[in-house]
Amino acid sequence: MASRTRAATYARRRKRRMARVEHDLTDEQWFALLEAWGGCAYCGGDGAALQKDCMLPISRGGRYTVANVVPACGSCNASKCNTEVTTWLRRKKRDDGAFLLRQAEIARSLAVG
Ligand SMILES: [Zn+2]
Repeated sequence: MASRTRAATYARRRKRRMARVEHDLTDEQWFALLEAWGGCAYCGGDGAALQKDCMLPISRGGRYTVANVVPACGSCNASKCNTEVTTWLRRKKRDDGAFLLRQAEIARSLAVG
């Protein structure tokens, strides 16, 4: 009985936490991301309309947060689709290590402020 109550409490807390981070990315943060990357995070292209791409797709539990969103051109976004980012980068024969390093630096600098 006690464990069931605890489980329910954890589930409630988790739900609250998820709700809080769901739309965490503000317009300000998005513009800062655009400026930091200076173009598409994947190919460097500066297409007219860069889109918010979730590195970990929403369908796989990703959320719109500074740590998870990067600007992507329409072509990269469409190609990546619901693929997890490193899997996709390797498939495209791009340097996923360099990408993740840069992404972590940008996310950290934005989080600090
Ligand atoms: Zn691109």
